[in-house]
Amino acid sequence: MNKYSPILQDLIQAFKNLPGIGIKSAQRIVFYLLQHDHTEKAVFLSETIQKSLETIQECQICRMYSEKETCEICDDSKRDPTILCIVETPTDLIAIENTMQFKGRYFVLMGYLSPIDGIGSDELKINQLEEIFKQKVINEIILATGTTVEGEATAAFIASVAETYGIKATRIAYGVPVGGELEYVDSNTLTRAIMNRSILE
Ligand code: ZN
Repeated sequence: MNKYSPILQDLIQAFKNLPGIGIKSAQRIVFYLLQHDHTEKAVFLSETIQKSLETIQECQICRMYSEKETCEICDDSKRDPTILCIVETPTDLIAIENTMQFKGRYFVLMGYLSPIDGIGSDELKINQLEEIFKQKVINEIILATGTTVEGEATAAFIASVAETYGIKATRIAYGVPVGGELEYVDSNTLTRAIMNRSILE
């Protein structure tokens, strides 16, 4: 016998399907939302999801989510149009934005090359990226894809595309975490940190 009624079961499952949420968290969220005094929060959640699905789309230039055809970053004339940072996900874009160190523009791949999963250049919309390259405004692309095998392969592929347009491709440096002790850093990370060492100024 199932512990839950069908709709309750569906609701718990809906949360459990989300990244980072296990069965216990899903139950806790559902029971929380169903409590009388939380009705407003539940309605807000439901309506906001509905509204987002109806209005949010990919920016036609960089693929970041926006309810406008082009996003705030692409529309911002104060940003440097000559440097483009290429990331795998919107979360990565936000992480870089939060550093407040990057003033160029972005392109979000919405994934990485993974032939086994059927993800190739079409899925990453490399054509759309090439449209940006063709405008001859970009001098440099920063490849900020992950350090996984797929992330590296994706970076190498995009660098080769950029090269055909005469655009310099750089890779973000990865290394020892700030505040980290060397003995706890894995050897791959340490190797990369040594390869990407910089001169003390
Ligand atoms: Zn955009």
